[in-house]
Amino acid sequence: MDLRFTSEEIAFRAEVRDFFESNLPPDIRRKQVLGQRLAKEDIVNWQRILNKKGWACPLWPVEYGGTGWDAVRYFIFKEESYRAYAPDALSHNITQSGPVICAFGTPEQKEFFLPKLRNMDIWMCQGFSEPGSGSDLASLKTRAVREGDHYIINGQKLWTTNGHRADWMYGLVRTSTDGKKQAGISYLLIDMKSPGVQVRPVVTLDNDHHTNETFFENVKVPVSNLIGEENKGWSIAKFALGNERAGIAKVGLSKARLALVKALAQRVEADGRPLAESPRFREKMALIETELKALEITNMMVVAAMAKGGSKQDPRTSVLKLKGSELQQATTELMLEVAGPHAMANQHEFLEARTGETVGPDWAGTSSPNYYFNRAVSIFGGSSEIQHNIVAKAVLGL
Ligand SMILES: Cc1cc2nc3c(=O)[nH]c(=O)nc-3n(C[C@H](O)[C@H](O)[C@H](O)COP(=O)(O)OP(=O)(O)OC[C@H]3O[C@@H](n4cnc5c(N)ncnc54)[C@H](O)[C@@H]3O)c2cc1C
Repeated sequence: MDLRFTSEEIAFRAEVRDFFESNLPPDIRRKQVLGQRLAKEDIVNWQRILNKKGWACPLWPVEYGGTGWDAVRYFIFKEESYRAYAPDALSHNITQSGPVICAFGTPEQKEFFLPKLRNMDIWMCQGFSEPGSGSDLASLKTRAVREGDHYIINGQKLWTTNGHRADWMYGLVRTSTDGKKQAGISYLLIDMKSPGVQVRPVVTLDNDHHTNETFFENVKVPVSNLIGEENKGWSIAKFALGNERAGIAKVGLSKARLALVKALAQRVEADGRPLAESPRFREKMALIETELKALEITNMMVVAAMAKGGSKQDPRTSVLKLKGSELQQATTELMLEVAGPHAMANQHEFLEARTGETVGPDWAGTSSPNYYFNRAVSIFGGSSEIQHNIVAKAVLGL
């Protein structure tokens, strides 16, 4: 298999790089480099810049605003996006609910939702997981009972990322208890402002509010908000999972973070010399760099197969998710090491509140919250254990 880029692909990379360099607002870039949390307006602002360029939703069919790129071009776009420190698009709008509505929505649903999702005029959240139904998602219990032209929803979702900022939820609900558990699930769009929806924060290890628990008490949802057929929600949800495969390993993100670690390690002293010259530190860097290179090549092999029309369900993508998560975590760990004592986020807040001065370099304070939050990347989107199971079954035949 030839993994070299063609001259057209190299030219495409240059075009994307140039666009990012000229159009990414410097304040957003700075926040990204420093590992700071982006405000909702930052994400909206960047998405609208992409939308103007026609690059807001590369994976959607062209008739709904997609770019028509193949998997290789999408891979290049994502790589360059990380290299530039551009924010990721809100996956709930762009790679999850959007493609589902393109494929299964009614003309009215497409007309109402797609332009708004693309331009971030509305913000989606995902209501799949529940207490006791995460890896075993098909066991979900949130009930939707049909009464005339409405469903009445009762139940609870858990880990609703951005639920507190979202306008709409794309959720999985149980519409039947007959037969196999997968066969009684439906995919519904729920207005988060509906009476009976209650969102409560779940504060994560990084001491931040990303995610929530969401309760539904007799929430009325019009049947016109059903996507596809009733009880066919499981296949619809699986369709969306195949979407982000080319970028799932986030190789570009880990490469950018590693480059930053390298640069900062030159500036930080350990035992009277730059940390970058410490043999132990160099050994760790080299190991991660080697693994990242191997992952990049695996990623390119999967992408090349996808570009030739291979299945979106390629089980090698589980290797990408698994290894990609580990390396994202390893790079945040290295960043923590570079930050040294300045990584102690709580001490930062405490000392800065007392002295009114910034403690340590501006990039160091975010290293520990980012380290803690990245523990979750091997859990969401299918935990590492689940990926191991898929690899064992599909690749090794166990
Ligand atoms: C920060 C964060 C954000 C999230 N955002 C969202 C969101 O926006 N929307 C949403 O719907 N969900 C979201 N999730 C939920 C996420 O998808 C689930 O946490 C994940 O699927 C795991 O499910 P669980 O938490 O119920 O753990 P469980 O499934 O109970 O797993 C517990 C442990 O058992 C292991 N395990 C489970 N089954 C097996 C098995 N068959 N073989 C071997 N090991 C197994 C798991 O790997 C894990 O280590 C988020 C989670 C986190 C942490």
